[in-house]
Amino acid sequence: MASNKPTYSPTELKEHQRVMRELRQQGQAAVTWGLPNPATEAAVLGMGLVMREKLADAGSTTRATDAAALAATMLDKTIQKMPQAPAYQCAKGCNFCCHGAVSVSAPELFRAVRLIDSVSGIDRAGVIGRAKARSAATFEAVLDLRGPCPLLIEGNCSVYEDRPMGCRQFVSTNAEGCRTAFEKRAGELPYVPGAANAGLILRSLLMGAAASLGLTAGTYELSSALVIALEQPDAEARWLAGEDVLAGALGTPQPPNMQDSVQRWSQMLASLYV
Ligand code: SF4
Ligand code: SF4
Repeated sequence: MASNKPTYSPTELKEHQRVMRELRQQGQAAVTWGLPNPATEAAVLGMGLVMREKLADAGSTTRATDAAALAATMLDKTIQKMPQAPAYQCAKGCNFCCHGAVSVSAPELFRAVRLIDSVSGIDRAGVIGRAKARSAATFEAVLDLRGPCPLLIEGNCSVYEDRPMGCRQFVSTNAEGCRTAFEKRAGELPYVPGAANAGLILRSLLMGAAASLGLTAGTYELSSALVIALEQPDAEARWLAGEDVLAGALGTPQPPNMQDSVQRWSQMLASLYV
């Protein structure tokens, strides 16, 4: 059967290799500097490219975790260089924002689970029990419970260094405002909007990278997804093999255009490899 792969002339091949090299350089720069300002399409695509190359590293059993770590580093660097950064009041142990619902993609989930497995002293059964206790029919219902995240142990996030992007992207210059919203059990916490937007861009890139490799690119409510990932030790390997292993988890609503954005990055990334 004839191959559908295009045949490049030597000149075209050289040009393709140059483009890939430049995109890769831009993506690597974001590990140090975060999203550039302005965030050109080429720079953002380069960030997706390095995430995809991590996820595609078939020799690595930690490739989902590694891709999630890359996205989280890019997000942290982006947030650290925002003008509001000197006034951030977020710190480990400040947990008013840990009483709600968290949305995760599969790589972010598996990264947190790997940390749970690697650190002695985190009681898996306890996490599963607390996660099941937070089950509800919809993401909004979990949010309304305003209960503690199952990963919150004695007031501290047990996966703080490897926490999902949905937690990292919410930063605030007003911890008292966070306390008030928490104590009143109503209203939005006073987050920095630009940081949350950066989180959405980086998650759509991570999901686009996954989708471009034929992997399921959904978002899930953390508690329900944790139960699956902790009760099925091979969940990460099965997801990497293309199985929709989190199909039974509670899906989360996505911001407008998120799916379009994931689809677009997926197509653009896949087109680099034809
Ligand atoms: S967002 Fe608010 S509650 Fe969460 S860590 Fe920052 S200051 Fe604390
Ligand atoms: S994962 Fe950690 S930071 Fe995120 S909500 Fe749970 S306890 Fe808080």
